[in-house]
Amino acid sequence: MKVVCVWCQQEGKPAILREEDPQDHGVTQGICEHHAVVLLARLRRSFVSGTGNPRTVAHDGR
Ligand SMILES: [Zn+2]
Repeated sequence: MKVVCVWCQQEGKPAILREEDPQDHGVTQGICEHHAVVLLARLRRSFVSGTGNPRTVAHDGR
């Protein structure tokens, strides 16, 4: 089956990320590296709007 990035698809770009199991001709939705980064940045911004330094919220400890 094909794994496609829904975001790339919406932008009209080549959206196929990879193909798994050639026997299966279905399509499943995923996200490419580029859009994963975009999405994370967007989420992070909405979580910490105002702090100005995204590095401080990368991980909450270990
Ligand atoms: Zn994408």
